[in-house]
Parts: sequence; C-alpha cells; structure tokens
Amino acid sequence: MPSFVIKQFGCRATQADGAALERQLLDRGCTLAVTAATADIIVVNTCTVTASADAQARDAIRKLHAANPAVRVIVTGCYAQRAPEELAALPGVTWVVGNSHKPQIPQLIDSLSAAASVESANGFFPAAALEAEPLSLLRAPAKILTGNIFEQNVMLGAPVRGGEGNHTRPTLKIQDGCNSRCSYCVIPFVRGRSRSLPPETVLQEIRRLSKAGYREVVLSGINLGTYGRDHSPRVEFEDLLRRIFDETSVERLRISSIEPLDVTQDLVDLFASTDRLTQHFHMPLQSASDRILAAMHRWYRAEHYARRVELIHERLPNAAIGADVITGFPGESEADHAATLAFIESLPFTYLHVFSFSKRPGTGAAALSNEVPDAVIKRRARELRALSETKAADFRQSQLGCTLRVLTLRRDEHTDVGMTPALSSNYLKVQISGAHPANQWFDVCISSEEGNYLLAEPASVPAKASVCTGAGGQ
Ligand code: SF4
Repeated sequence: MPSFVIKQFGCRATQADGAALERQLLDRGCTLAVTAATADIIVVNTCTVTASADAQARDAIRKLHAANPAVRVIVTGCYAQRAPEELAALPGVTWVVGNSHKPQIPQLIDSLSAAASVESANGFFPAAALEAEPLSLLRAPAKILTGNIFEQNVMLGAPVRGGEGNHTRPTLKIQDGCNSRCSYCVIPFVRGRSRSLPPETVLQEIRRLSKAGYREVVLSGINLGTYGRDHSPRVEFEDLLRRIFDETSVERLRISSIEPLDVTQDLVDLFASTDRLTQHFHMPLQSASDRILAAMHRWYRAEHYARRVELIHERLPNAAIGADVITGFPGESEADHAATLAFIESLPFTYLHVFSFSKRPGTGAAALSNEVPDAVIKRRARELRALSETKAADFRQSQLGCTLRVLTLRRDEHTDVGMTPALSSNYLKVQISGAHPANQWFDVCISSEEGNYLLAEPASVPAKASVCTGAGGQ
C-alpha cells in the first residue's frame, strides 16, 4: 500500500476532514510517509476563505511537485470544490476532488495504487519508473471529481490531535456546512448544508479521547449553534452538552465559536453551572454598523450582539469574550468603521480576530462595486488590531493576583528554560515557573505579565473557576 502525507490548510473543520481521511487511509493499510519528499501520495487539503488562502495552496502544490516529481498529488478541500479547473492546471496534480466527493478519496487511492502495481511489481511508484518512461506517458492531465455540494450529507470528521500548540487539546468537529448566506462568505457553497454528528457518535468520540488521556476537548463546527437541527427529532446543542457531562468523564470542554444569537440565556446558565465548560465565548461580530451588518446579510444588529456580551459578562465576569471582525466590506465608510471601534471599546471584549475583506467569487458581496481601497483597509485593520491588543492587555492585567486553574501545554523550542506554557479556562496564555509535563492541571497564582502572556506560580489554594481574587474583571 502507498505511503502518504496530508498537507493541511485552513480552519479546524478542514483539519478535521484531513484527520478523518488520515484515519481511513491508515485503517486500509497505507502508511504515513516521513516527509512529503518521500511520499507516494500527497493529499493537499485546501482552504478558499480568502484570495491569499488560494495563493498559499497553489504555491504549496508547486513546491511539493518540484521537490518530489514522482508523487501523485490529490487536491481536495474548499478551493477544490470552488475552482477545480484552476487547480487541475497546476503541474503534478493527478486528481482534484471537491468536498462533494471527499469521502471517496480512500477508494480513489486504492485505484491509483492498483494502477501503480500494474506499472511496477516492485513498489507503488518507484523512481525507477520515472527513469524508464518519459514523464509525458506517466502524467495524464489531472482528473476532476466534483459535484453538487448541496447533495452531500456525509459528515466527515475525526478528532484533530496534533497541530501547533494544540498537542494536549484535541478538536472534535461535530457540525459541518451552513444554511445561512452571509454575503461575503463562500463557505456554504463549498461545504454545503448544515449537518451534524449523531449525539451517540459525539459521546463515543469524547469517551475515546478521555480514555486516551486528553483532559480538554474543543468542540468545533462551521456554525456550531445549529448543531442537531438536521436531526429528527431535532437535538438542541445545550442538551448535547448536558449529555456529554452526564455520560462521559471529559474534564473540560471548550466551544470554538458560536454565532451571537445562539448564545441564549440557557446556554450561559449552563456555562455558569459547571467548571467543565471553559469560561470562553467566541462570537463572530464582523461589524458593529447596522448598515454594514444588513449589507452582509447578518441577521442581528449591534444592540442584539451587545445584549449577548452583557449577558455573558453579568454571569461570568472573568470570561474571555472574543470576536471576528471584517474590515473593508464594500461601502464601509469611516463612520461605519468608527462605530465598530466605539462598540468594541465599550464592551468587555478580551481579544479580536481581525480580517480584511476578501472578494470571493460567487458571493453576493463580490458583485458590489463600492470597494474600499486597499490602503484604507490596511489602516482600519491596524486600528482594530491595536484596539484588540489594548483590550487583551487590560484583561491580562485584570487577572493579576487571581488564582486560575490551567492546563499545561507541551514545551517547545520557544519555551523559556524553567517555565511551562499553560492555558486557562478563560483563554489566557500562562507561563508557570518550573518544568512540568504537558496535560496536567495546575492551580496557579498570577504574579505578573510579560509580552502577551501571564507569569504564574503554582498556588497553595485551589482555584475556584469563576472567582478572581485579584484586581477583578473588566
Ligand atoms: S454563518 Fe455566515 S459567515 Fe458563518 S459559515 Fe455561515 S454563511 Fe459563512
């Protein structure tokens, strides 16, 4: 059986698809190649959320092919679904498989493997084959396998265990696709309708992860709050969380991102009732100008969003509250931008993810003519990032003197000697004095701040999840 490498791009959902594929290929007897340069097959799992994500994928494919001309390159993921011809034209690409056909990649590799066995009885696609035959005979034009994504109901996904800085906190994708149509967003057109894992499968995956020793699991999805709406009878996301706590021994769950209107009183009450849910909410805001929110086809207005933030902050004053913000949406005026800055300034956000508007072919916003000049987008993005840093610094300072429960992360080459990185429930990066193993709970006392993390000492008094004894929340 061939050896393979999966090159991952994009969000956690795409990485979960890659993890599922890796599991399937290993189950069939394929082996993980040590490097891409020695692999028989490389699967490039692409993202298309911005024009620069597309460019990164094309660049990577060119480099992979140059480093290993004999390799079979299968390109899949969101870019492959959106623009398969663009990818099929790249050198070295054997197959372009859209998300609509992603579940068929293992069978495709079986067929490539069988064909290669005919070509050579001595191995999957040895360099000798290249030497013996002209490249033109071996390299047929890339084949494309895509279809109507809205007919795809398979829910691919396996826990993502590795990844930078995330070796101790696996991500489990429990929902895919989206039924909304935000005018800037290409995701529904490349991932299809909202669908979710059955509750029993979620419980089984979480039990497996707990048994393997993981203590914090991150639940993710494209539009996580819509979890279970495709099931009959419908399953509520809050009820799934309650079942996870009742029926598994997972110690801590984190929710990756949730739309603001899915943050209900019931959900916030649930967060406040247990320290097994992290005090961390990430809610896409995108803009705080109602005019721009309407043009984006977002279904809330700034005041609705503000109420959710206040609801969280009243019940959980120490919670991390993060938001995605898009700057430079067509027609965004200085007044709209100022409204977004003032809104963020006025609320207890603890960090922002700032994105510059990127025109995505096929979306409603791509047809709008009143584009914001690049230089203006860059300046607005800088202003938003500066505000994000101020909010994050204020939040870190509010935690000085607090006792927090943290989970140690794996030390790497950037870790100071004698320190151990860790993450708090409220999403603060902490460095604990002393060298400690990864994946351990520590109650720590926050002593000072350095750069974008907090310094801490192991505490003698156990932490109470929602109580800060220091300078207090914002
Ligand atoms: S909710 Fe909007 S932004 Fe999020 S995936 Fe769906 S369409 Fe895209």
